[in-house]
Amino acid sequence: MRKRFLSLSLALWLVWAWADAPAWISRAETITPTDLRAHLEFIAADELEGRDTPSRGLDLAGMYIVSHLQRWGVKPAGENGTYYQTLRFRTDAINPAETRIQIGGQSFEYGVGFVARPVALNATAPLVYVGNGWSNPEKGIDPYAGLEVQGKVLVVQAGYPKEVVELGFEAAEAVGWRSPERNAEEKGALAIIRIDPSDMERIERIARAWSQRRVVEGLQPVSSIPVIVASAPMLDALFAGEQVSATELIRRANDNDPAPSFALSPNKQISITLSVQTRTETARNVIGIVEGSDPVLKREYVSIGAHLDHVGVSARGEDRIFNGADDNGSGSVALLEIAEAFATGPRPKRSILLLWYAGEEWGLLGSRLFVERPTVPLENIVVNLNMDMVGRSKQPGDMNPRNRDLSGPNEVYVIGPNIASPDIGAVLKRVNDQYLRMELNPMYDSLSHPEQLFFRSDHYSFVSKGIPRRPFCWGAGRRWQSTAGGRGKPPGAAGRSSGARGRCALGLRRYRHARFCSQ
Ligand SMILES: [Zn+2]
Repeated sequence: MRKRFLSLSLALWLVWAWADAPAWISRAETITPTDLRAHLEFIAADELEGRDTPSRGLDLAGMYIVSHLQRWGVKPAGENGTYYQTLRFRTDAINPAETRIQIGGQSFEYGVGFVARPVALNATAPLVYVGNGWSNPEKGIDPYAGLEVQGKVLVVQAGYPKEVVELGFEAAEAVGWRSPERNAEEKGALAIIRIDPSDMERIERIARAWSQRRVVEGLQPVSSIPVIVASAPMLDALFAGEQVSATELIRRANDNDPAPSFALSPNKQISITLSVQTRTETARNVIGIVEGSDPVLKREYVSIGAHLDHVGVSARGEDRIFNGADDNGSGSVALLEIAEAFATGPRPKRSILLLWYAGEEWGLLGSRLFVERPTVPLENIVVNLNMDMVGRSKQPGDMNPRNRDLSGPNEVYVIGPNIASPDIGAVLKRVNDQYLRMELNPMYDSLSHPEQLFFRSDHYSFVSKGIPRRPFCWGAGRRWQSTAGGRGKPPGAAGRSSGARGRCALGLRRYRHARFCSQ
């Protein structure tokens, strides 16, 4: 166990490898299983209720970290001279009782006649049908040509042009494709009613999921256009007496022979009332700096991060709390011990930036906020080391198939050297050879591994900004990151993996884009 816990300080050795002195070994020795266990017993306690984002438990975990940083003289590096960087969550939710749509004397209720994204609207307007609503001026594709759509409601067919599917959204945008939402915003349309045969048949089942939207201010661009999915009866009311019926529109779209755009009868008006309630909540990243000893090099930062949050409490079951001792209490307390080792001993030349993120489990929110609104100059961060799930490894002789993918007793998974930076791989090997001689397992250090771990933790936020920086190397090879640790999942986590894979696919597209386009 001691050896395992000592392995958590890989990042510490790496950083010392940048410094001259071999003092790092004695500092690494200050990291003990007893200290780590003491911290973890607090961070993963039932009383912290699984540290969901946002939650009181996560706030308390952050306060615990901060009280230690203060004792050791670690400098605050969050906002306004504090150790904190605030993530402001805005949750918009449809108020179904006051949300309705009327067409020609017929009234439709939320969750029965239609569903809608929670964007408030109170308007009466005529309608325009614009096919799938995607345009590409560079290719001469414009379903809006000759139509006045300002102040009107667009009716669009669900679906994407083939090229958009093939390229992914970002790359498609770069070659001129514009989504119906963007067109609606730019052209001053009021709302989009979507014809979507698959959603149409399950309006009641998707009503709850559609009715809420949660965003972090400053991170996600928020569309101001309400998107509504109509039920079959509502579509029939919309297209009653028009040149093409709703059934005909769907049939033609299925047959790849979409009906051309047209304005619906000018006498027909739709009245839309979307009532939305908004609440705001906050969570916090914790950020500190151990200042470097070299008057010049201390302006550069070696950043080390770990996400502090987990997934909270289950709705059912006897033991409802997901304690998240491994994911990622282990990385969080390892980082705390690393902070102490740096802050209370001789310092390396460069400054150490210590980051405990909130919101990783909801899509890397804390680290994304940090790289979008960095509290130190991003260009001064030379590298980012990340620890996610470093607390479990296979005991000798463990044949349990559930533990099959855990790292071995003296082994650690490392991601980064193969994918993006052989230089860092060489440093890692050098320090490892000098001290613990762990087995460094590169199994996940591949873009083609099905788990796609390279995209699935907070280091990826830095990678997307071109960190690490290697000024002497050409573009495509400048990225690197290390996620050291076993990947044992907490009970109940298996169901989330498909969602995580979804994020990865997006990440892959973004990575490819960044790889060729970013500085
Ligand atoms: Zn994690």
